[in-house]
Amino acid sequence: DDRVPAPNRTQDRSQPRPDASTGAGDAHPGFTNTPDTDPSLPANQAWGRSILTRIEGSPLGKAAVADAQVADEEALSAVIETAVSASKGWAALSGADRAEILHRAGTVLEDHRADLMEVMAAETGKTLDQSDPEVSEAIDFAHYYAERAKDLEKVDGARFVPARLTVVTPPWNFPVAIPAGSTLAALAAGSSVIIKPARQSARSGAVMVEALWEAGVPRDVLQMVQLGERELGRQLISDPSVDRVILTGGYETAELFRSFRTDLPLLAETSGKNAIIVTPSADFDLAARDVVSSAFGHAGQKCSAASLVILVGSVAKSPRFRNQLVDAVQSLKVGYPVDAVTQMGPIIEPAEGKLLRGLTVLGDGESWLIEPKQLDDSGRLWSPGVRTGVRPGSEYHLTEYFGPILGVMTADTLEEAIALQNQIDYGLTSGLHSLDPAEMDLWLENISAGNLYINRGITGAIVQRQPFGGWKKSAVGAGTKAGGPNYLMGLGQWEPAQASG
Ligand code: GLU
Repeated sequence: DDRVPAPNRTQDRSQPRPDASTGAGDAHPGFTNTPDTDPSLPANQAWGRSILTRIEGSPLGKAAVADAQVADEEALSAVIETAVSASKGWAALSGADRAEILHRAGTVLEDHRADLMEVMAAETGKTLDQSDPEVSEAIDFAHYYAERAKDLEKVDGARFVPARLTVVTPPWNFPVAIPAGSTLAALAAGSSVIIKPARQSARSGAVMVEALWEAGVPRDVLQMVQLGERELGRQLISDPSVDRVILTGGYETAELFRSFRTDLPLLAETSGKNAIIVTPSADFDLAARDVVSSAFGHAGQKCSAASLVILVGSVAKSPRFRNQLVDAVQSLKVGYPVDAVTQMGPIIEPAEGKLLRGLTVLGDGESWLIEPKQLDDSGRLWSPGVRTGVRPGSEYHLTEYFGPILGVMTADTLEEAIALQNQIDYGLTSGLHSLDPAEMDLWLENISAGNLYINRGITGAIVQRQPFGGWKKSAVGAGTKAGGPNYLMGLGQWEPAQASG
């Protein structure tokens, strides 16, 4: 294929910030981020359009998903037994041997970049500008965790004993990068894996898993299942040979898993309700661009998405920034990914329940700056909405909606704006747009969220450079940030080196 990587992104991404607050300072010498595709080049545009022509009727992943169906308890027990016995041989490999297979997985994922983008678009409606970096992220996880697998053996006086079996339950919103990241981390640590891709994006998960098999990950070390019934889910999570569960999903799912098993060894990244604060010193052009991409990229269906923008002082009082924001939002081209000009695609399923209310019902004191419109009969295609006048303590202020809606709040001072974000139970991502170093310091000192971004959008964390994970109710259980230096350590335990003797 004649895809050409984006040169700027390559250069930019390979230079981790030494002062990153995430612990990313210790860049791994053996790791370089994978470049996205450069969309400005005509050859790449043709490559992208060729993917779009294949979306309709795409067969990718269908057969593997059919194979993954687990009929009953007995069949699931057999899958678990296979995983446990396979884990011995996998754990016995050296870190370098596992790393070799993982590096190959990175190469194979790159070979299948177009396939992965095709199946994501076909199955979830993800647009190419979103799915291309997602594939890069999956590849990054492969190479990064490969290098970190070798590091696990370098600790003097201690021996790392991996989990026997890790269960991976990823979400549908990042149907390739999140399942890949969780799976590759567990494999790198030396654990066998049973992955249950989300029902809505099972085919994308399957194409990713097939790439890992193709790279040489044994099929009994990595198995994929689809479970028809909740009882089978309970059986899987409760099985005592499951040493770790990596969940990315709603907070309620983490609670459900814990109700299945009280001593659950869970690593969960859960919900978010994230704000970008804009102060009077901000570059408004940059701020409007980043608020719009963070709020409406993938139709707002990211745990990391900006669901609130908090305007400080004169930004709140004058219409200037609001007008700029409205223009930017109204210029978004909404449609299905099959059309190459689409900037915001459909939501995963017809809007219902809370999301439908969020798209149609205002809270006390709120009004539409831009009212969302349902654009066709599917219930999936909505134009982006912006509500203003969101009141402190209201349902919109404090809870997650997971769709193409942005709320505007105002604050007299930066301190007040910070308090509005910190009042929320979740703490996943948070953004500041300001050109004043004193404001940056104040914000960094006081904001409570896992991933902090200044003068940048708040989605699209990059492996190693911005390890990803939440605080407060956005993280449940143990575990450190994904794509960061310590993540593998949560997937096993340390013993004194002689203990195995
Ligand atoms: N890692 C993704 C990002 O930085 C978000 C993952 C999620 O939505 O769970 O945008």
